[in-house]
Amino acid sequence: MPQHHLMVEPVLALKDNYVWLFKTSAHTWAAVDPGEAGPVIHHLDSLGETLSHILLTHHHHDHTGGVEALRRHGVARGYTPLVIGAEKDAHRLPPLDVAVTGEQRLSLGDLEAEVMEVPGHTLGHVVYRVLDTLFAGDTLFRFGCGRVFEGTPEKMWDSLSKIRALPDTTQLCAGHEYTLVNLQFACSLEPNNAALQTLLTHIFRQTDMEQPTMPSPLGEEKQYNPFLRSDDPAFAKNIGLTGLAAEQVFASIRKKRNSF
Ligand code: ZN
Ligand code: FE
Repeated sequence: MPQHHLMVEPVLALKDNYVWLFKTSAHTWAAVDPGEAGPVIHHLDSLGETLSHILLTHHHHDHTGGVEALRRHGVARGYTPLVIGAEKDAHRLPPLDVAVTGEQRLSLGDLEAEVMEVPGHTLGHVVYRVLDTLFAGDTLFRFGCGRVFEGTPEKMWDSLSKIRALPDTTQLCAGHEYTLVNLQFACSLEPNNAALQTLLTHIFRQTDMEQPTMPSPLGEEKQYNPFLRSDDPAFAKNIGLTGLAAEQVFASIRKKRNSF
């Protein structure tokens, strides 16, 4: 039977970044957004396995800072990981071995990745889909989304809508552990939403025990992530934005979140 579920390993880096690791063949791994090399090297060396690919979602240093050290570490041990990122941002990403242009497929050892362009957080932001798993970088977080640094709220809403069209069973693996504060923000928007309060109790407990809150199903985001609900009239009404267009609702709650 063909494999459809991807096993992933979250590696905590810097303050609250995740480097996501997954196997590309029997003894090789891929690392997504290595903001730091140390924890990735530790993981690989403890298994005696190697890194075949480095996937980059965008150019921010907390997602790319470990690339050079990982490459050097590999070369010193006789292997060279291939660095993959968006051609659009090649000038401000670490040197790329594979520059992806738009929507395309990539082969990663025994697996395949599908690239989606999602401008908004940065103009060249891409996400990668491998089997049932989405590596979302700083575009979609659990119960939240990235800040709109380079694009417009319209662009970001468009990008999030593209992600929302993926199947409910998609596993979300985002670039940061922001789940608790995102959910607290969602609760502040809708204090009368009992389902959010129930989730909050659960996330409090998980965060307290320092457990990663992802991977988590995209279906849950469609239901509870306020940013993905920007085009739901009932939601707009509940937060006092009756009659606004989706992009306007999105822009308004993104602005509120910036100062939360
Ligand atoms: Zn970023
Ligand atoms: Fe980041």
